[in-house]
Amino acid sequence: MPQNDKPIYAQRRAQFASQLGHGAIAIVPTAPERVRNRDSDFPYRHDSYFYYLTGFCEPNAWLIVNGDGGSTLFCQPKDLEREIWDGTRLGPAAAPAALGVDAAFSVSELDAKLPSMLENRSIVWYPFATHQGLESRVTSWLDKVRARVRFGALSPQLLRDACGLLDEMRLIKDAHEQDIMRRAAQISAQAHVRAMQCSARMLRAGQDVREYHLEAEVLHEFRRHGSQFPAYGSIVASGANACVLHYRADAAPVRAGELVLMDAGCELDGYASDITRTFPADGRFSAPQRALYDLVLASQNAAISVTREGARFTDPHDATVRVLAQGMLDLRLLDANLVGTVEDVIEKRAYSQFYMHRTGHWLGMDVHDCGSYVEPGEVGRPDERRDPLSGETITDRPSRFLRCGMVLTIEPGIYVRPAPGVPECFHDIGIRIEDDAIVTASGCDLISRAVPVDADEIEALMRD
Ligand code: ZN
Ligand code: MG
Repeated sequence: MPQNDKPIYAQRRAQFASQLGHGAIAIVPTAPERVRNRDSDFPYRHDSYFYYLTGFCEPNAWLIVNGDGGSTLFCQPKDLEREIWDGTRLGPAAAPAALGVDAAFSVSELDAKLPSMLENRSIVWYPFATHQGLESRVTSWLDKVRARVRFGALSPQLLRDACGLLDEMRLIKDAHEQDIMRRAAQISAQAHVRAMQCSARMLRAGQDVREYHLEAEVLHEFRRHGSQFPAYGSIVASGANACVLHYRADAAPVRAGELVLMDAGCELDGYASDITRTFPADGRFSAPQRALYDLVLASQNAAISVTREGARFTDPHDATVRVLAQGMLDLRLLDANLVGTVEDVIEKRAYSQFYMHRTGHWLGMDVHDCGSYVEPGEVGRPDERRDPLSGETITDRPSRFLRCGMVLTIEPGIYVRPAPGVPECFHDIGIRIEDDAIVTASGCDLISRAVPVDADEIEALMRD
């Protein structure tokens, strides 16, 4: 963590502490190291809540925040032998100056110190159902507190979920976060450009192009700009593979005349980006591909135009669906004689044959970031709406109002599997266009547009 970022984390801890309540205490562990196979671990990734409050990336660390002020870090002790093998550790002695916490101890003292820290506290906050074994750990500490009740100790009366408070804080991205997210999106956009150009260049040269070739370009571009990881498993789907929503980059050939759907984003300094582009492998859209592409783009534009402070989270999705539904009728993907008008298509959700996912999600430290999709102040308000995806009726839980600093993706798509009555020219075409948007007072700021979306611009880019 850069030293000038220290006040940001201190301020977040203070804001968190102020919401815990008098006499409360919060326990926030980081993520465990995970074995991949035998004695090899997965690359280590910190817990997002923990990192949000500390800026600290080492494993085996715990943050304790006192509702009345003050924070304590438990971290790995200095250990020359281990540091020779695994790398430098900050250590408890250096932690207060480096991270701005008030006190720090070795993580080996956690079980010894926690019971006395919980003693005489009223409420214990921790993230529910997030860390395996945490609940039983808390119980064992509370057990020790109770054993001291006869000596005049008070035992906490209430356990509360820290996720709710932290989710609300993380939902609005501050300037520091927005800056990192802009840079992450910029890198990912450049990576998409690179893969598009590589695809056209290799095909022009008569080379055998595979999905993994394009993934390799993307990963190279991420890493050479300092991204630590991909934010999620990259999807590079050629041809009909694009109709498999959670397809991963595999070894399928990338052929001239087919489209490639690429959903890939880097993680930079703990923040995700999430971009999808669909492009012709050789740089030229066919007429049917172009017709579907322009429809998806028009539906994305409709979603973008309603994304602003004060809109509901569901508004971009509803705008998308209306454009797609009309387009499906116009292109005869849906037969008006069977499904009726655009209102019928929406009402009966006939569009879901070709568009079966949501138009967006929160984006932040996690690619599907935390944060409630229900407006907290309106829970219980007599109100009925239909979930656009499941068709279920939701009562008393109106959709979230968008606020400045929220970040979400806008990602409509269309996926045409062969089926009776579906024009053959559209079979096996899958298209998604995904951008990352920061909500502003007047609209939204698309931070992923360093890679074009316009079909002509994509073709021009791939000609060079
Ligand atoms: Zn996404
Ligand atoms: Mg995506």
